Amino acid sequence: MPLNLGDLTLDELTAYMLSMGEGAFRGKQIFRWISRGAGSLDDCTDLSKKLREKLALNAEIYLPQIRKKMVSKLDGTIKYLFELRDGNLVETVVMSYHHGYSVCISSQVGCRMGCTFCASTLNGLVRGLAPHEIAGQIIAAQRDLGEKISNVVVMGIGEPFDNYDNIIKFLKIINDPNGLGIGWRHITISTCGLADKIRRFAGEGMPVNLALSLHAPDDGLRREMMPVAKAYTIAETLASCDEYFNKTGRRVTFEYALSEKNGSLAHAAALAKLLRHRNCHVNLIPVNPVSERDYVRTDRESVKAFMDYLNNNGVNATLRRELGADISASCGQLRNREIVDQL
Ligand code: SAH
Repeated sequence: MPLNLGDLTLDELTAYMLSMGEGAFRGKQIFRWISRGAGSLDDCTDLSKKLREKLALNAEIYLPQIRKKMVSKLDGTIKYLFELRDGNLVETVVMSYHHGYSVCISSQVGCRMGCTFCASTLNGLVRGLAPHEIAGQIIAAQRDLGEKISNVVVMGIGEPFDNYDNIIKFLKIINDPNGLGIGWRHITISTCGLADKIRRFAGEGMPVNLALSLHAPDDGLRREMMPVAKAYTIAETLASCDEYFNKTGRRVTFEYALSEKNGSLAHAAALAKLLRHRNCHVNLIPVNPVSERDYVRTDRESVKAFMDYLNNNGVNATLRRELGADISASCGQLRNREIVDQL
């Protein structure tokens, strides 16, 4: 496979151009082109044809291709099915809020975390996405919409910390002011709780928002719902989140998908006990239906009671707005869609 120039940070791209006997400024030039949506080397029109040909001997630029685009009739949420260079597919969702566009991107093709309520993990993991494929979802969506995307959540298909090095590189690339220039505070990484990686990430000097998928207040129930809980106890996981907060100053969000399994007031009480003394926030999501899964939502009153209990007992909690319900664009519903259609 040729080197994908979109996998390089600005420093790396500059070093690469120098190694080719070109001026350092060429690195910045190409970095800008990639961020603005160049789909190939030939799109970089201020590089001479000769230089493009020279680069093409070993390198390329490739942007994920839109295979399918669905727009929600309910709220305008857009779901893209992107095709990657090797034919693999991932889903990406763009939501429009009053403060701008937010994109929910995938970090892997499939997932091996095995959460028992989630569709993304049904066919296991195919591979992690390269940095240019993670950033490319933002760039391709932005190019298609003709609008700037201001917020990025890594909450689509895959476990970002199971693709750690590529996620770090991706973050460097999209934060760079010469490219997309997306600030740390406008980026959220969601993890099922790989505690050792959370600790490592706390030391990277990238103070993005961290969302931790908790979903259960005790280890027994969490192990039933999320195999990752067999590797890390809730206590270990919360300790890693505390470290993240202490090092970055960013308040951690805990995600909690409410179902009949984990949505009673007794669960709310146990959750409040765990989180009461932490500077954090709980994001409640009524569990989204996935046909292969047997999770059932609690009714609206129970959801409200759960949320009220937390708020009345020292834990700040809000209910996630549901978007794109008619195009299966909600949390846990993303998958390698074309594969499913073929079944
Ligand atoms: N692997 C990461 C990010 C992808 S999932 C993580 O686990 O956090 C994004 C969020 O959707 C997670 O909080 C996940 O637990 C949640 N989720 C998965 N399936 C869901 C479902 N059916 N209903 C509601 N939320 C779900």
